[in-house]
Amino acid sequence: MPAPVLLVTGGGRGIGAATALLAAERGYAVGVNYRRDADAAHAIAQRIRDAGGQAVALRGDVAVEADVVAMFRQLDSALGPVAALVNNAGVLETQMRVDAMDAARIQRTLATNVTGTLLCCREAIRRMSTRHGGSGGGIVNVSSVAARTGSPGEYVDYAASKGAVDSLTVGIAHEVAAEGIRVNGVRPGFIYTDMHASGGEPGRVDRVKAFVPLKRGGEADEVARAILWLLSDEASYTTGSFIDVAGGR
Ligand code: NAP
Repeated sequence: MPAPVLLVTGGGRGIGAATALLAAERGYAVGVNYRRDADAAHAIAQRIRDAGGQAVALRGDVAVEADVVAMFRQLDSALGPVAALVNNAGVLETQMRVDAMDAARIQRTLATNVTGTLLCCREAIRRMSTRHGGSGGGIVNVSSVAARTGSPGEYVDYAASKGAVDSLTVGIAHEVAAEGIRVNGVRPGFIYTDMHASGGEPGRVDRVKAFVPLKRGGEADEVARAILWLLSDEASYTTGSFIDVAGGR
């Protein structure tokens, strides 16, 4: 039987790369999407192939509709139709209060985190849904604990985008539940990745870890394990649901 195909957006580093590598270990053929860093995504795909798995790196800005359409078509040709989608690509910008934000910044954050997630869900549903002749599948959207906390003083725009990810996860889950597709979310807390440098504070996790009940930051692999569980048959009765991977925060 051919390996089920998993697409992870933003798969070249951080939580996306950890998800791609663990998915390959669990027997998925993996599409590793990237926006800019081709070398990183190709390196992850090569590591998977070197270990005997199947993987391709796929360029595409998830915020651009034509890129998303082309990326799913490339995946169809290279590995087959998607059976599992991980909407992991996400951005945040420099820490600032709302009274200092301009519209362009807010739009960039919403374009990747919300529009990108919706567009990738659309393309996956067109392939997975029994209504469209597909044989079902699973989607996991990577949200954030920020959806609950609101990220005051840091990036309320980002937190709001993740609140939208939570809402669309529930809505889509209910919309396609009878069509063989389960849709869930994970909400990471403070995870050691390069994302914090984008916010202007590379050492952020170490600064705030004392406020986490488990008293440490999380590793990307700990988030990947929750994602892979939600996609697995172990989670067969779980949809429209969330796992917080946040050390109790
Ligand atoms: P990261 O290290 O900054 O990686 C982000 C990835 O997303 C990169 O591979 C980047 O690719 C890709 N990406 C960004 N915009 C894209 C776009 N428009 N189209 C396609 N790919 C795009 O981030 P991370 O920490 O692993 O975060 C992954 C997810 O977890 C995000 O959704 C983030 O919001 C969420 N999260 C992270 C934390 C944390 O503490 N790290 C906490 C809560 C939630 P390129 O480099 O090629 O642009």
